Amino acid sequence: MKPTHLFLFFLSASLFAQHSFAQHEPLVDRLASSIESEIIELRHWFHQNAELSNREFKTAARIAEELTKLGLEPEIEVAHTGVVAVLEGGLPGPVVALRADIDGLPVNERCNIPWASRMMGTYNGDKVPVMHACGHDTHIAILLGVANVMTEIREQIPGTIKFIFQPAEEGAPAGEEGGAELMVKEGVLKDPDVDAIFGLHIASYIPVGQIAVRSGSIMAAADAFRIDIQGVQTHGSTPWSGVDPIVTAAQMINSMQTIVSRNMELTKAATVLTIGSIHGGIRSNIIPEKLYMLGTLRSLDNDMKELAKTRLREVVEAIAKVNGAEATLEFQGSYPITFNDPALFDQMFPTLEKTAGEENVFIIPSITGAEDFSFFQEQVPGLYFFLGGIAEGTKPEDSAPHHTPDFFVDDSSMLLGIKTMSNLTLDYMKSQHNE
Ligand SMILES: [Zn+2]
Ligand SMILES: [Zn+2]
Repeated sequence: MKPTHLFLFFLSASLFAQHSFAQHEPLVDRLASSIESEIIELRHWFHQNAELSNREFKTAARIAEELTKLGLEPEIEVAHTGVVAVLEGGLPGPVVALRADIDGLPVNERCNIPWASRMMGTYNGDKVPVMHACGHDTHIAILLGVANVMTEIREQIPGTIKFIFQPAEEGAPAGEEGGAELMVKEGVLKDPDVDAIFGLHIASYIPVGQIAVRSGSIMAAADAFRIDIQGVQTHGSTPWSGVDPIVTAAQMINSMQTIVSRNMELTKAATVLTIGSIHGGIRSNIIPEKLYMLGTLRSLDNDMKELAKTRLREVVEAIAKVNGAEATLEFQGSYPITFNDPALFDQMFPTLEKTAGEENVFIIPSITGAEDFSFFQEQVPGLYFFLGGIAEGTKPEDSAPHHTPDFFVDDSSMLLGIKTMSNLTLDYMKSQHNE
């Protein structure tokens, strides 16, 4: 324990002795501020050592090392490269899980910063540069910061905290399992059984100091699919002697547009259907034998999602039939809706306002992006929010989007993340005690 921590520890002990748990905020503030520079240094290390999904070996080792320094006993190799640590508070109470995703992306960093990533990795067999182009380095550092603060006040915590450092949020490599789905499958929310889970995402389009959130569906379900069309190959000059999978595909793509525009009750929730990839043919004068397309379906309502999937299958089968072709539609993995439990949202919203300031918490429209935090929320009530990452003085329109080479989030964003996650944890535990 560092001298400053020792002092704060005694201060905390006396604070808790004198007051009820309601007064934890000033203590969280001071403890978080005292470790800010340490957390920024850690963030830089993780940024410089970015690794791809399910390959976060150095990252996981460093996380485990930092947790061990705090006196915790991390479990490693959870869902391949995940790290989980449990902190038992000094008082009985509920179990709160806090989640940080830890993977980088195959993006070549262009930011002119001394701690830019020069890492390389292998993605689908290719050598690629690796960068924390989604800001998961800040998520790791924030959660380590929370672990630091919480271990300082361990004796006063009325409950248990499970720190979940999750690999492969961006998706496991082809043919591999991973991410939150695999963690859930391996029982990460059991023993001790988690009562509620909190997670955040840094945002390069929100100013530092702000929080963006909503009740209910905050991010979409994502269903990836593949359509294979089988035709009959022939010379390009005599299409009547074959079955053209390209014309069939063109009709399918056009008909699919009516699923969203004609079948979805759009005033209820958004749905998006995108074909992002189409592969077929080789020469101008050959009608090919087959073709395949890849697409994604995004929905913010489960009933609408099921209807869109049914209609997609009907369109694919019917259009294939009228063209004399054969077609298969295969759904290839799905992320559920990232759904903020309305009761938990109502309960915890005051904590967000109290920590960030009422004027800094915004209710946002749903987002058609997806997030595998949703797998945890399918099991237990969860709350997921966005944390501002744009440096003061930078306009939102000048900041690069996530997943791009110029993506950047400011170090000053993390302090509010540490405070918010800490206060959510303590307020949640306190409210369970009062019930
Ligand atoms: Zn991300
Ligand atoms: Zn991302």
